Amino acid sequence: MIILLFFLLPLLFYALLLMWLVPLGYTVQSFMTLLTMPGQFFKIATNRTIRRNHALEHATVNVIEERYGLTHLAGYATEEGFVIRGIADPEMIYNASKIGLSRMQNGEKNLAIHQRCGTSLAASNFLASLLFVILLFSTKQANIWSMFLALILGSFTGSFVGPLTQKYITTATDLDKVEIMGYTPELRQVTIYTKQSEFEYVIE
Ligand SMILES: [Zn+2]
Repeated sequence: MIILLFFLLPLLFYALLLMWLVPLGYTVQSFMTLLTMPGQFFKIATNRTIRRNHALEHATVNVIEERYGLTHLAGYATEEGFVIRGIADPEMIYNASKIGLSRMQNGEKNLAIHQRCGTSLAASNFLASLLFVILLFSTKQANIWSMFLALILGSFTGSFVGPLTQKYITTATDLDKVEIMGYTPELRQVTIYTKQSEFEYVIE
């Protein structure tokens, strides 16, 4: 019995410590998310060039996954184009990007939405953080239950909000004047370059 207690007490202590430390860490992380996320979102949301490249990045991965099933490819968009990371044939990725572009130009706007998009996950994290901070202020204490509640509610609402965030904030589907210029294969990633002609406004 005493031996059992000898083993159980440190475990109990550790569990209690964890129950206190984890919410503390989560509180700090939540505040950080709330502080940094809007800025990153704003940067993508206000840059239509990046939004178009982001849509094309998703279309590329969607075209590949239609053919080969789920992949571990990930990517991000820049003003010059986009990068696809993962182990795959660079030329196959390049060809998929051209197919993705022409399909989107022909009206398949839904190719711009990708289930595992980083900005979707960020939106869901942001919601969880926001909920947690609200719970924190309304109950005046950070505990493991409010953390779980925020995480569950955050990921639940995030699954709806994520695709909407992509559709209205982080991608743009007006790709009529977008061209794919070429690609550079690098170590476990490919950079695909795009050119976006300036839209001409005629002032009468
Ligand atoms: Zn994305």
